[in-house]
Amino acid sequence: MADSYIEKGNLVPSKIMIRILRERIKEDDCKKGIILDGFPRTLEQDNDLNEILKVDKIFEISISDEEAIKRLTGRWNCKKCEIMYNIFTSPRPKQDKICDKCGEDLSQRWDDANKAAIEKRLKIYHNETEPMLEKYKNSIIKINGEQSIEKIKEEIMKKLD
Ligand SMILES: [Zn+2]
Repeated sequence: MADSYIEKGNLVPSKIMIRILRERIKEDDCKKGIILDGFPRTLEQDNDLNEILKVDKIFEISISDEEAIKRLTGRWNCKKCEIMYNIFTSPRPKQDKICDKCGEDLSQRWDDANKAAIEKRLKIYHNETEPMLEKYKNSIIKINGEQSIEKIKEEIMKKLD
């Protein structure tokens, strides 16, 4: 059900995400806490989420639209190993468009390779996610996402104590 929305470049409706999440957080590996990446993305999702759990910290790892476009167009994945590569960040495949692990040709998600789809995703982000960030502007922890992966990790770990 979720895939049918993603395939069209749309966000998965909040109620579906919450249903998936509500089941997933019952599993043993969630007993000590969980990290949600890229969710919630809208005020509606945020309201629904607050009904099923308590959020301790919110991080905004911010990058410019230009950087987002660059990184999305750099994503290549191996369908066989389900490894995601990025030619601009990491991990970079050793050979162009070839999986390091199995040697298969790498492919791109259609909405990563398609400029119109990327612009649509950015527009959705500005219209629907930014109002949620505004709501938490006094408590949100902002991290510059254009630094190295190591530096970003270091800052997040510091803020998490
Ligand atoms: Zn592979």
